[in-house]
Amino acid sequence: MHIGVIGAGIGGLAIAIRLAAKGHQVTVFEKNSYPGGKIAQLYTQGYRFDTGPSLFTLPEWVDELFHLCNKHTEDYFTYSQVKNNCKYFYPDGTVFNFYHDQELLKQEILNRTTEAPEHIYTRLATAKEVYEISAPVFLLSSFHKLSNFNTPPYKQIARKLHKLDFFWTMHQANQSSFTDPHMIQLFDRYATYNGSDPYRAPATLNMIAHLENNIGAFFPAKGMYHIADSLYRLATHMGVQFNFKTGIEEILIRDKQAVGLRTSSGEDIPFDRIVSDVDAKQVATRLLKNHPLKNRLQKASLSSSALIFYWGIKKQFPDLDLHNILFSADYPEEFRKIFRDKGITGDPTIYIFISSKQVPEDAPAGCENWFVMINVPADQGQDWDELIPKARRQIIAKINRFLQTDIEKYIETEQTASPLTIEKNTYSMHGALYGTASNSIFSAFLRHPNFLRKIAHLYFVGGSVHPGGGIPLCLASAKIVEQEMKLNHG
Ligand code: FAD
Repeated sequence: MHIGVIGAGIGGLAIAIRLAAKGHQVTVFEKNSYPGGKIAQLYTQGYRFDTGPSLFTLPEWVDELFHLCNKHTEDYFTYSQVKNNCKYFYPDGTVFNFYHDQELLKQEILNRTTEAPEHIYTRLATAKEVYEISAPVFLLSSFHKLSNFNTPPYKQIARKLHKLDFFWTMHQANQSSFTDPHMIQLFDRYATYNGSDPYRAPATLNMIAHLENNIGAFFPAKGMYHIADSLYRLATHMGVQFNFKTGIEEILIRDKQAVGLRTSSGEDIPFDRIVSDVDAKQVATRLLKNHPLKNRLQKASLSSSALIFYWGIKKQFPDLDLHNILFSADYPEEFRKIFRDKGITGDPTIYIFISSKQVPEDAPAGCENWFVMINVPADQGQDWDELIPKARRQIIAKINRFLQTDIEKYIETEQTASPLTIEKNTYSMHGALYGTASNSIFSAFLRHPNFLRKIAHLYFVGGSVHPGGGIPLCLASAKIVEQEMKLNHG
């Protein structure tokens, strides 16, 4: 089989590797000059920045791709477990480290919160149970296919539906689990890991806490871009052919079947099967004439986006860790602003990611590379020229207040990413980080499926389709598509 893949994001790389491992001829078309999509990096004045994802969970799903190709992961890619999953700073001066080590964590809970450690263990045990019941159905198979409903995981989930916490929100579940508001806010924050609102998203999503805190957070030895780069090298070693700076203009359909791709230079190339790693809304509006789900996609609400400053800081801050959160004082207001008003609160929660804490080469000696991010709405035509400088002033004032510093005088290089640049670089509609939002119990069912009943030989991977956004779920989408394609070894 000759298979065409549109997009070299993590989903596109993963499906290309899976199909090449089966012996098929795979050709990837990528409009950018580099692989990785949202997993990207930039170099400036001696600093290296990962520009997209920073948190790495479920690394074994990356390992699996090397194993499928009979390669040793360590020959391409190494990573280690992070000791402190995240350092949280609260407006009242409380600081809390979410250590992976159980004894350290217990001491931290006892010394810095009023929460009983058992409440946190119980919440994490529930998150684990929900993950283990739901992953085989919601994350690792296509529930857009009726025959799957007759398989053991689906039958099992039917008996355990009451355990999946569909009918209350993440916040309501956290409020009933904890007495200390610091813990409620900390656990509510996991909604942002797929661009959602904890005051509306179903409590099922509290399972995200299991991935980071029970299984663990990891970090690649050379930073996040190393994930994309090593998968790209694996793909090329498996014979996948990459065409960079080659946009696809149209998916060609004949007799209700995908038959080829039209490139931006007007060339039509025939394929036996096609896999799209392009944002689903983008496919519906630009690449596919008469997409059967176009109306549904247009109505779906989008996940949040991000405003990020990449700052080269000519100073080291020993009080900061790899992942740091400076919480807002009014969390409900922050999410109301993002999802209802499509704006930015005056006191946003700030995430500071400093890869040079783990990878010293990422910054010159004595310096640090700060990735400073706040959650913002996807682009809906807001006046970003006004919003961005205003948010920057508020971020700087807040960092100064929380860290007792004058950060502006240490910024020696600066670049910015916004919903507009994210859309431009990755063709994600309106710069949404995770496709559609998961703010209702129906979101999972309304997500774009991995195939369309009305168009044969066309499949979909990546963060905007089932099972969702984030590196692990994009890898899961590739696994599902490989299963659904039902191709024999070529
Ligand atoms: P994308 O990365 O969206 O790539 C799609 C590719 O297709 C792009 O390279 C694009 O150029 C190409 N393309 C699009 N249209 C065409 C066309 N017509 N022709 C040719 N090529 C085309 N996830 C985590 O797990 N942890 C995190 O901490 C995290 N943080 C994030 C922070 C930010 C700022 C962002 C932006 C994302 C973050 N994510 C995180 C989400 C994660 O990065 C994404 O879910 C994932 O990388 C998306 O991969 P994808 O396969 O959907 O493809």
